[in-house]
Amino acid sequence: MVRIDRVRLVQVPMEVVSPLRTAGGDHGSRLATLVELTAADGIVGWGENVAPASVAYVGEMHTESVAAMRELLVPVLTTGDFDVAEMDPSSWWGIDGWRIAKHALESAVWDIEARRRGMSLSRLLGGTRDHVSPGVVVGMADSIDDVVSECARRVGEGYSRVKVKIAPGWDVDVVRAVRAAVGADVIIQLDANGSYTGSDINHLCHLAEFDVQFIEQPFTAGDLGAHAALAAMGAVHVCLDESVMDRAQLAEAIRLAACTVVNIKPSRVGGIGEAVAMHDMLRGHGIDAWVGGMLETGIGRASCLALASLPGFTFTPDLSASNRYFLRDLTAEFELVDGRIAVPDGPGIGVVPRAEVLSDAGTRAETVFER
Ligand code: MG
Repeated sequence: MVRIDRVRLVQVPMEVVSPLRTAGGDHGSRLATLVELTAADGIVGWGENVAPASVAYVGEMHTESVAAMRELLVPVLTTGDFDVAEMDPSSWWGIDGWRIAKHALESAVWDIEARRRGMSLSRLLGGTRDHVSPGVVVGMADSIDDVVSECARRVGEGYSRVKVKIAPGWDVDVVRAVRAAVGADVIIQLDANGSYTGSDINHLCHLAEFDVQFIEQPFTAGDLGAHAALAAMGAVHVCLDESVMDRAQLAEAIRLAACTVVNIKPSRVGGIGEAVAMHDMLRGHGIDAWVGGMLETGIGRASCLALASLPGFTFTPDLSASNRYFLRDLTAEFELVDGRIAVPDGPGIGVVPRAEVLSDAGTRAETVFER
C-alpha cells in the first residue's frame, strides 16, 4: 500500500530538434510536465504528462490535461492508502477520460513501488529483455526527398526500422522512394493517424508492394469495420493505435479481427497497469504488439522502456534515443549503441531529472498538494 503525501508539478520548456509532422498536426516545441510524488515513507517517484499542445488525434490537450491532474485527479490520488495495481483507469479514479493525465500520476506511483522494492520497474513488471532495438518515426515533410534523406540518415545512425507517416496523397510515391533508398533489410512501417476512409482499402493494399511491416491506424478510431475489411484482404498487416484506448476496446477489435498488430502507448491507455493488462491479452491471442512513444522526455521514456522489455512486445518500439527529439534531455541521455537502447536497470524507472534542470530559471515547480 502507498500513501501520497506531496505532489509537485514541474514544467520545463523543451527545445525540440525538429518538429514531427503528422496527418493530425505538428508536434512542435513543447512544455514538458513532470509529476513528482512523495510517498508517506519518503520515497519519491516521477511521472510525465505527455499530452501534446496541438495534435488533433490524441484528444487530450496539454493545458487541459494538466488542469485535470491538478483539479480532478490529485484529490483522488491523495485520499488515502491504495495499491498501485488497483489503479484501473476505467474505474479507480471515479472520473471518466483524462487517460494521459491518469498515466502521468499512475506511472509515478509505479516508480515509487519499484524503488520501495529495490528493483527496476522492468523487473517488477516481468520484463525479459535488458535492451530494446528501437525504431524511429519520420514525419511528413515538404518534399519526398526530405523524407527519404531523413530515413537514410536514421538508418545510418543505427535504427533498423523507420515508421513513415502517410496520408491521402502522401503515400505510394513516398513509400516507394523510401524503400529504394533504405534497401531491403530495413523494416518500414506506415502510420496514417486515421486519415483514410473505407473507400481507400484497395489503394492501401498496393502499399504491400513495398514490403511494409504494417499500416498503423489507417482509418478513424471508431471505424473498426474498415480496419477489419482491410485486414481481411490479407495484403497488409493492420496495426491499431487510437482505436484501442482500453481492454474493452481491444477485446472488441480482436473479436472483429480488426488488427493483426497493436501499438500500446501507456499514456493513451491511462496507465502502465492497463498497458500490461493489454499486453497480456495480446500475448494470449498471439497478436504482435509494441510500445509506442509520445515524444516523452527521459522520464516518460524510461517507464516506456521498462514496459517494452515485456516478452509480448514483439515488434520494435517507437522509443528512440534522446537526441532524436531534444537538444538536451531532462535526465541522463538515452543513447543508441549498436542499434540498441538499454532498458534502465536501476531502482524504479532508473532515472531522475538532472539537478540543473530542476534549478534552471526556466523551470517552474508548483506544489499542488501537501499533507
Ligand atoms: Mg500512431
